Amino acid sequence: MNCQPHWIRPVDIWLFNNQTCLLCDEAIESALPICSACELELPWLGESCQRCALPLPLPMSGLICGHCLKQPPAFEQVHAAWAYDFPVDSLIVRFKHNSKWPYGRLLAELLGQCLLDRFNCGQERPDFLLPVPLSVQRLRQRGYNQAAMLCHWLSAQLSIPRCEHWLLRTRDTPAQQALGAKIRKRNLLQAFALAPGTQVKGLYLALVDDVLTTGATAESLARLLLNAGARRVDVYCLARTPKPEGAP
Ligand SMILES: [Zn+2]
Ligand SMILES: [Zn+2]
Repeated sequence: MNCQPHWIRPVDIWLFNNQTCLLCDEAIESALPICSACELELPWLGESCQRCALPLPLPMSGLICGHCLKQPPAFEQVHAAWAYDFPVDSLIVRFKHNSKWPYGRLLAELLGQCLLDRFNCGQERPDFLLPVPLSVQRLRQRGYNQAAMLCHWLSAQLSIPRCEHWLLRTRDTPAQQALGAKIRKRNLLQAFALAPGTQVKGLYLALVDDVLTTGATAESLARLLLNAGARRVDVYCLARTPKPEGAP
């Protein structure tokens, strides 16, 4: 089932011909539709936890946050380009909820550049990219899965194959952002499954999503994949939020 091929070419064609910065509307002559001033001002993720990419308040390079120390996550490492802050937050919202695909395409490309830099510095490349799945019901409502779109663009840029149908969301969960971490975790139990016949034994996999908040979704999926024999699971996401109030 590949239900979203129709948007890719129009978005690529639109971007190729676009000569202005998507953020400030200045005319530009760059490969990407963002001017260097706007790119510099994006909320690039600074000091952050080496495991979960949680922004850390002080310069604490190479450190692991208290939560990851106390309870190491199932995933090995989160790779995020930005803190979930202006203007990346509003670009993601417009991409995700208003079908403004060029914003998603631009952010994916910038994240892809960060990942390529890391590969060039010796970071191991995963065997496959897997988008965080939507339930069939949510996919019908929205019409597209933004994580699958990001995964498609990253896969092409990084030359890493993607498998869009290995992970299934078997149960819909309420909108997660408004919920506390405990409730989110409970909702996510049993929410995911592997598609019948999926073989992940010995594989290094990277989950792709737009935003990582508490990490509960990534944790559930990583645990599922490791239990099925995957060797390692990382997370690639555009942005990382600070932990919500009251989260463990
Ligand atoms: Zn600009
Ligand atoms: Zn952490």
